[in-house]
Amino acid sequence: MKKLIILGSTGSIGRQALDIIRRHRDMFQVVGLSTHKNVELLMKQVDEFGPKAVAVSDHNSIQAMRKKLGKRVEILGGESGLVELSLLDADLALNALVGSVGLESTIAIIKSGKDLALANKESMVVGGEIINHLLTKSESNIIPVDSEHSAIYQCLLGEKKQEINKVILTASGGPFKDKKLSELKNVTPKEALAHPRWNMGKKISIDSATLMNKGLEVIEAHFLFKQNYDEIEVIIHPQSIIHSMVEFMDGSIKAHLGPTDMRIPIQYAFSYPERLESSVPKLNLLEVRELVFEKPNLVNFPCLEYAIEAGRNGKSFPAVLNAANEEAVEAFLKEKIPFLGISKVIYEVLSEHKPMDIVDIKVLKEVEGLARGKAKEKIDSWRS
Ligand code: MG
Repeated sequence: MKKLIILGSTGSIGRQALDIIRRHRDMFQVVGLSTHKNVELLMKQVDEFGPKAVAVSDHNSIQAMRKKLGKRVEILGGESGLVELSLLDADLALNALVGSVGLESTIAIIKSGKDLALANKESMVVGGEIINHLLTKSESNIIPVDSEHSAIYQCLLGEKKQEINKVILTASGGPFKDKKLSELKNVTPKEALAHPRWNMGKKISIDSATLMNKGLEVIEAHFLFKQNYDEIEVIIHPQSIIHSMVEFMDGSIKAHLGPTDMRIPIQYAFSYPERLESSVPKLNLLEVRELVFEKPNLVNFPCLEYAIEAGRNGKSFPAVLNAANEEAVEAFLKEKIPFLGISKVIYEVLSEHKPMDIVDIKVLKEVEGLARGKAKEKIDSWRS
């Protein structure tokens, strides 16, 4: 029986994770769950899965949870509650939090020596160097949940690092792939949230529409697989049948194909190194017939380039990119800035940034705070 902690259990990835556990009750036991403020759903999850403890990160929602659940389960509060939850006795923790707020939990999980199923890519983007340093001193392993990184992870099993030529990340291109730049001016949050292939949360859906998601994934791949940025390629593959590839020195390419359903990579991270039966309908290649690939359009979707550039520049740039993006995405969702304003805010914050060495989490938080402040200034004074 593997004991699991699910951070962000009321979000899209968290709910799909619980769906897997529901189907494999004999293999997995839930010891911890968390929500930001979806107390209603968390209560139902507590009833169904009976964890030892839960964390509620939104201060205003802790009281509501205490009232409703009383003494039935230990309730941990605030951001420190997430860290306490991460330290519970367990074999593996899924970090499915949204945004760089997930970094402290990632660090706590690694320090505690348990394995980490990583869905919170932002923690790798902003804290990649800190995380990789901690991993050298810990028993903990990271099993990626992001579908592309799960694919690459699987392609690399049994291979030697020095024989890799490059990793090839595939991208669906998002809902606006074929729109003209002029048409992107007036797209709404609702249109941006309608992803053609994957069923995902709000933040990542907007990131997919701007291609920032792919940019963050390039940085994530750099830190996870220790590849230089020259050895990471992004290719548009609208069907999302191939989830990513690795090219080796002899010209061989290994690809990972499968249905577009996040439950597969989540389940793989839970069951690794074994595989389990899945209820997801299998892929019918005769229906797929052919695979299509395209070059990314960096004029319409400059966020991809900004992210790769920030990754190459290293130091505090990825953290600044991510902080500015989190603020800009939230502002777009609240209709404070237009869709094309997202990349503009990020560009301006990045170009005014004076790089710092990320020596520890304190410096990182300082850098993030400054970048968020700058981004907010630009959003508040937005004139289209
Ligand atoms: Mg992905």
